[in-house]
Amino acid sequence: MEKLHSANIINGKEVAANIRAGLKEEITVLKARGVTPGLTVVLVGENPASQVYVRNKGKASEEVGIRSNEHILPDSTTQEELLTLIAGLNASSDVHGILVQLPLPAHIDSEAVLEAISPAKDVDGFHPYNVGRLMIGKPTLQPCTPYGIMKLIETTGVDLSGKDAVIVGRSNIVGKPMAMMLLQMNATVTVCHSRTKDLAGKVRAADIVIAAVGRAEFVKGDWIKDGAVVIDVGINRASDGRLVGDVDFEGAAKRASFITPVPGGVGPMTIAMLLQNTVDAARKSAGL
Ligand code: NDP
Repeated sequence: MEKLHSANIINGKEVAANIRAGLKEEITVLKARGVTPGLTVVLVGENPASQVYVRNKGKASEEVGIRSNEHILPDSTTQEELLTLIAGLNASSDVHGILVQLPLPAHIDSEAVLEAISPAKDVDGFHPYNVGRLMIGKPTLQPCTPYGIMKLIETTGVDLSGKDAVIVGRSNIVGKPMAMMLLQMNATVTVCHSRTKDLAGKVRAADIVIAAVGRAEFVKGDWIKDGAVVIDVGINRASDGRLVGDVDFEGAAKRASFITPVPGGVGPMTIAMLLQNTVDAARKSAGL
């Protein structure tokens, strides 16, 4: 008889809500000591998806008591103008976190902009200093999505030590930092990408599968080893309009021990960890 849904569903919404509740309390204590964490988000241009992200980040910040500020700049903003704004934010003692919403317009050099952000205020964890700290196993501010995934895996109680982890995707914001975080927890990590041979075979051998490809239901259910932990980072529109991940959820859930849904899995964690990074940056800047 075919097994139905044997996996435990990891509730990212709930885990993120718990993190936000903890931060709210922490912020109350910080405020009593004269520190109000401040996050500034910079948006250049009129990308509608970016506008929604920026609005959501501002709203989530205010809800936990972070002072949030937005700079919405026209598409015509020059790189020099943007760098001048960042220099001002770096110098402002009220601003603990700076986030420049990506993608930036093509005429702006994104790397130069990300490198201009003070590493101590780099709440996205994208500055080469913070990337390097993660690489040497001494993380400071960590990229929000993989950081959130580590928190989700923690809730399963699964010990990562000695486990085989396969990451599908090698982007700088998800796949690569994810590899470093799993390695730090003593997993044996394989990072797959578009040139990987026998991807299905590699995923079949994995105790932990992280799918960050950006293709709807790309990882098939029968690629999943019995009892594996499956984390689905993807956010895609299927041809019938449904919001789906990078994993065939129904198929994978029959085999996995734990699996994240889309939506309601990794997504809510990304913003929660941004708030966490902002609070951590504020606490550190105040020497607390
Ligand atoms: P990128 O497009 O930057 O990277 C995708 C990766 O997938 C690349 O490394 C690429 O390989 C690999 N890939 C593409 N096709 C294949 C293939 N056929 N076989 C194997 N590997 C393949 O994506 P991101 O990392 O930015 O995002 C991945 C997904 O996660 C997206 O759906 C995105 O929307 C979502 N996302 C969700 C977030 C959240 O908060 N939940 C946050 C960030 C992203 P190669 O390098 O060789 O090109």
